[in-house]
Amino acid sequence: MAPNLLPVDKALEIVLAHVPVLPFEEVGYQDAAGRILQEEVRADADAPPFDRSLMDGYAVVAADLVVPGVRLRVIEEIPAGTDPARLASIIPGSASRIMTGAPLPPGADAVVMVEETETAPGAADAILVRSAVRPGDNVARRGGDVRTGDLLLAAGDFVGAAEVAVLAAVGRTRVKVGGRPRAAVLATGNEIVPPEEAPPPGAIRNSNGPMLRALARRSGADAVSLGIAPDDEPALRERIEIGLRSDLLLISGGVSMGTCDLVGEALRAAGVEILFDKVAIKPGKPFTFGRRGSCSVFGCPGNPVSSYVIFQVFARPALRRLAGAAHPTIAPVRGILEGPVRQRPGRTGYYQTQARFTGDGYSARVLPTSGSADFVSCALGNALAVVPSEIAGLEAGAAIDLLLLDDHAER
Ligand code: AMP
Ligand code: MG
Repeated sequence: MAPNLLPVDKALEIVLAHVPVLPFEEVGYQDAAGRILQEEVRADADAPPFDRSLMDGYAVVAADLVVPGVRLRVIEEIPAGTDPARLASIIPGSASRIMTGAPLPPGADAVVMVEETETAPGAADAILVRSAVRPGDNVARRGGDVRTGDLLLAAGDFVGAAEVAVLAAVGRTRVKVGGRPRAAVLATGNEIVPPEEAPPPGAIRNSNGPMLRALARRSGADAVSLGIAPDDEPALRERIEIGLRSDLLLISGGVSMGTCDLVGEALRAAGVEILFDKVAIKPGKPFTFGRRGSCSVFGCPGNPVSSYVIFQVFARPALRRLAGAAHPTIAPVRGILEGPVRQRPGRTGYYQTQARFTGDGYSARVLPTSGSADFVSCALGNALAVVPSEIAGLEAGAAIDLLLLDDHAER
């Protein structure tokens, strides 16, 4: 590895050591989705809260029904929502008609499905049970799923739809969640024009700005665009000052070695402490990271794939840290390469990949790409395959780390 290049894991360590956890907020449970829980949630009651039926059928005494064909007298009907204290006891030879979710009456120890019964000939209030029944059949016992006080959700857990259901089920209508990071996105470059404009000769449309904003939003940030700054230090500084009011400032372009690459100078002039400005990563080597006050600055190289990879490897964990995730780094999954990958050793390689779940693991197809300007390959991939810096290549069939980029990896 070139001596002045910082290894990816060291760079990520520095980023996470400098990015704080935002103060928590208290929100309504319906607004907690997409946020990260900052307190534990315990069961306020047993679930189910009483012995209940799992089927529409008849509550019975199983000992009555060791053989098929037994006749039982029906004593009442129990819809879901009935107060368990008002139920008539089931005595041998009797049964109550019961609905799914309704409380099991005293004396009953099983439910026989309605499909296993028929009305007894000549008697409207009696049934014949066609099958034998064992104690516990079609009954959910009180506390069988959850006991009062059980830990259901932990601080640092991502709140998805299922977690919202848990909050609702235990009546936790207000919860503490991590703060929502505010991100600002600045595109730079004399040649960059807004997508709404036809690019004059020599110009290209700003794709990184919208991409970084979308990525930041996807990671839970409230992300705003600061537009496009030309390669001019005073103009850059002006926009950078605005961006530094956010928790995270994402800048695209202007961090390489060209005469127009002035972002590093503008950041220093603005009083940003630069913690590193070169990383042993491909693509994205000139990635520059700095801090001023409570803002973390990510200077991403302008090549679209570089910006994309730098966001996924460094900015996404930083946003997760800000938002209070217990584990801000994204754990890779193991995949098996469908074809060989080659690289020049010295930098950790991140390759746009289609990962498919095959039943016993992920199969990884690294996408052909024309290089770090090929943003179309980002749209085709759903993962980044990671090839360690010291390795010159991997053969088809080799195991490889995959950073999943879909919902699956958000948790
Ligand atoms: P730079 O890092 O500024 O040297 O830019 C590297 C390459 O990325 C150049 O070809 C730029 O034109 C391109 N580029 C820079 N910014 C953007 C952007 N916002 N959208 C699309 N391409 C960009
Ligand atoms: Mg540039």
